[in-house]
Amino acid sequence: MADLDTGRVGAALGPGAARPRRWRRTSALRDLVRETPLAPDDLVYPLFVVDGRGERTPIASMPGVEQLSVGVLADEARALLSLGIEAVLLFGIPESKDAHGSESHAEDGIVQQAIRVLKDAVPELVVMTDVCMCEYTDHGHCGLLDADGAVLNDETLEILARIAVSHGEAGADVVAPSGMIDGMVGAIRSALDEDGLQGVAVLSYAVKYASAFYGPFREAAEGAPAFGDRRSHQMDPANAREALREATLDVEQGADGLVVKPALGYLDVVRRVHERHPELPLAAYNVSGEYAMVKAAAANGWLDERAAVLEVLTGIRRAGADLVVTYHAKDAASWLQEAR
Ligand SMILES: [Zn+2]
Repeated sequence: MADLDTGRVGAALGPGAARPRRWRRTSALRDLVRETPLAPDDLVYPLFVVDGRGERTPIASMPGVEQLSVGVLADEARALLSLGIEAVLLFGIPESKDAHGSESHAEDGIVQQAIRVLKDAVPELVVMTDVCMCEYTDHGHCGLLDADGAVLNDETLEILARIAVSHGEAGADVVAPSGMIDGMVGAIRSALDEDGLQGVAVLSYAVKYASAFYGPFREAAEGAPAFGDRRSHQMDPANAREALREATLDVEQGADGLVVKPALGYLDVVRRVHERHPELPLAAYNVSGEYAMVKAAAANGWLDERAAVLEVLTGIRRAGADLVVTYHAKDAASWLQEAR
């Protein structure tokens, strides 16, 4: 508003007025008061592993992400560590699938091989593994099915426990059950302990929504359901109070950490789960569809990719996530290193 007497634009604040902009005046001042740090070791990089020696196969719907054969994993892991990324989450794409997902818990299964290769080459890397059946079943569902094609709960627990034990025996540090099967954390914890694998942590996908944002992942992991969908076990996107119940049940069953998936449409859920269970590390999964949106917009020149990615990851951390599982991890880590 123009001052009528002086002609100056805007009324001056009086003496002693609050001026939050003082902390934003220079880059160093902003650095000094930044509330939410973002570092490469907050990030977990998902790896899609296939059989073979030297192949890297690009995934069309996730530019920059590749299916990796076991033979290139050691190089990939060393590259990640040099960027400051200290954890990977493994997804396996088996040679053959069947109704019972047998290869999911085979001693020489694809993930089991991958764990051994990684632990052999770079023992300090934290190896996390996805524990579910959907990549291993010919029908693409997350568990055993009854005659009507519905996912059986308690029968599936037995297989999930076997998968987790086989990963633990191969050397996994963390197993991450993702199937939203009731009782999965307790079943896995008991089986690991009975096998002498007390040191293997369970990072539970306690809160996983039936989301449209998993589309590109299903191409990457070749795990789309052959019929139907996952709404009988994954959560309704409309529900948040139910997420607290899911989280608490998993904590009671012995979960060492929790996951909320997806991240961006569910930051309120990240915040609420963090506040309900501040005692446990919380991870948020910045899923394939979220990645693809940013990549597509950046490729069209509609977004500044670097700024958008760092803002997205910081936002997920600010909401309450300690860890972010993200396909942007390598780019983000190199940008964060450059900024130092
Ligand atoms: Zn699944």
